[in-house]
Order: sequence, then structure tokens, then C-alpha cells
Amino acid sequence: MTRPLFSFEFFPPQTAEGAEKLAVTRKQLATLNPEFFSVTFGAGGSTREHTLKTVQQIKAEGHNVAPHLSCIGSTRENIRAILQTYKQLGIRRIVALRGDLPSGMAGTGEFQYASELVSFIREQTGDHFHIEVAAYPEFHPQAKSARDDLLNFRRKINAGANSAITQYFYNADSYFHFVDECSKLGITAPIVPGIMPIVKFAQLARFSDACGAEIPRWIRRTLENYGDDTASIQAFGLDVVTSLCQRLLTRGAPGLHFYTLNQAAPTLAIWKHLGL
Ligand code: FAD
Repeated sequence: MTRPLFSFEFFPPQTAEGAEKLAVTRKQLATLNPEFFSVTFGAGGSTREHTLKTVQQIKAEGHNVAPHLSCIGSTRENIRAILQTYKQLGIRRIVALRGDLPSGMAGTGEFQYASELVSFIREQTGDHFHIEVAAYPEFHPQAKSARDDLLNFRRKINAGANSAITQYFYNADSYFHFVDECSKLGITAPIVPGIMPIVKFAQLARFSDACGAEIPRWIRRTLENYGDDTASIQAFGLDVVTSLCQRLLTRGAPGLHFYTLNQAAPTLAIWKHLGL
């Protein structure tokens, strides 16, 4: 059996202290021998320099790194320049996204959807990059319908994406259903589940409301019940997320992509519980 594909996502730190902390996190997670680390990119280019710096540091340490690139609010010229920089650095994988325009920022720029970015990357750089795109087992909050979202996902694959990473979810059936529907549409690209460790309830609830990821009622109510008892929240979260990962891998998920939020401990704990 081939080893599942594991990857870890970071956001680019904005301060020297944050960068130092991330270097420690990276060192700990590197011991798990992931396929790649990925680094997010603020829509509209708001973290452009920080993303690049973090990508350079990871690359210099000898790891595979996949920068995220979001296109909303950008011009073709901007994106072309970023692609050239990554190509020169020897980067081979990119996570291509639309992004969400920060509130108050006007104009969508020259790209409207991630599928247009994927086509542009292929047009500019041929097969140089392995392109990852986002997938939504519980459907993207702005999609007109579940069916439309699936067809829009297929558009990204047909435009040249090689594989996908999902938004996080806590209901494994949503993932299996999504993968089945994709397969009926002829999509064979690997769809790797995105995993969000449960560390703090308020933060998770806020994220989930914003991105349309559902926290099932039984999980939400149990977490609410723990109040400020962080140790109980984390112990319960560890159980929930470990069994989710176990189900996903047992039923054939091609790997796991961890949203680490720049912390090693929650991912390491899940890893240990999975017995990987
Ligand atoms: P798209 O695939 O373009 O889809 C956006 C919406 O438009 C969907 O509702 C889709 O159904 C609809 N749509 C697509 N094509 C069409 C069409 N032709 N006609 C009509 N409707 C259409 N954001 C960041 O800013 N930076 C990051 O680094 C980042 N990393 C992420 C990593 C992962 C793994 C995931 C899952 C998300 C990430 N995001 C990031 C968030 C992402 O940018 C948002 O979810 C955003 O709202 C949608 O991006 P997308 O690439 O999925 O967009």
C-alpha cells in the first residue's frame, strides 16, 4: 500500500517573534516527514512579502513547500511576476485559490474564479507546477447550489489542477459523498481532506461560521459545555479529530492536510493517537 500523503499548512508570520515560533513548529513537524508544507497567501496580495519570505525559509531548510496563491483583486501582471519568482526558486507545487476580498477593498481585479487562475498558471508555466485547488465537501457558502459547486470544482480540474485539498469538516460522510459525486462526474484527481484540530472553541466557531464548515451539534454543544476548561476541550477535540482521521484513512482518503495554525502540538497529538 502506498503511504498516504501528509501535508501541513502554515500562515506567514508578520513579526520576528512569530517567525521564530514557526521555525520551531516546522522543526517538530518535519520529523513526521510530510510530503510538503504549505503557506497561505492573503487575498489581494496582503501577505505577499511574508508568504514569499516564509516559503524561502522552508525551501532553504530543504523541505518541499507549496505557496498558496489567491487571485481575487490581482492583475495578470502581478500573478505572472509571482509565478516567475516561485519558478526561479525551484518551487514545484502551488495551491491555487480565488480568495476572499478583504472588506473595504474595491474591485475584483482581472480574475473572478480560481479556475481562471489555474488556466493562467498552465498557460504561463506549462506543466512546471503541480496545482492543488480547494474543494468543499459541505459546499462553498457562495455556491448557487450543491450541483453548481460540484460542476465548478470540475471546472478547476478540467482547467489543469492535479489534486485538491478540502475545506475542513467534522462529518466524514460529507467527504465520502463529495468524493462519490466527483467520481460520477469523471473526476479522478486525488481529493485530500483538510483537517482542523480542535484547540479553542470560540475561535473554531468563528472560523466555521465564516467559511461555511459545519460543527455538528453534538460536538458544538459538548465544547460549549466545557466553557473555559481548555484541557477538556482539547482532550475531547483530540478524540473527535483522531476518529475522523481514522475513518477517512480506513475508507481510502489519499492523505491528510493539517491546518496547523502554526502550532505543532495539536497535530503531533493527533498523529500519535493515529499510531502513524
Ligand atoms: P472558486 O473555486 O473560484 O469558487 C468560489 C465560488 O464561486 C464557489 O461558490 C463556486 O461554486 C463559485 N464559482 C466558481 N466558478 C464559477 C463560475 N464559473 N460561475 C459561477 N460561480 C462559480 N484563501 C486565501 O485568501 N488564502 C489562502 O491561502 C487560502 N487557502 C485555502 C486553502 C484551502 C485548502 C481552502 C479549502 C481554502 C483556502 N482559502 C484561502 C479560502 C478560499 O480562498 C475561499 O474559500 C474562497 O471563498 C473560495 O476560493 P476557491 O479557490 O475555492 O474559489
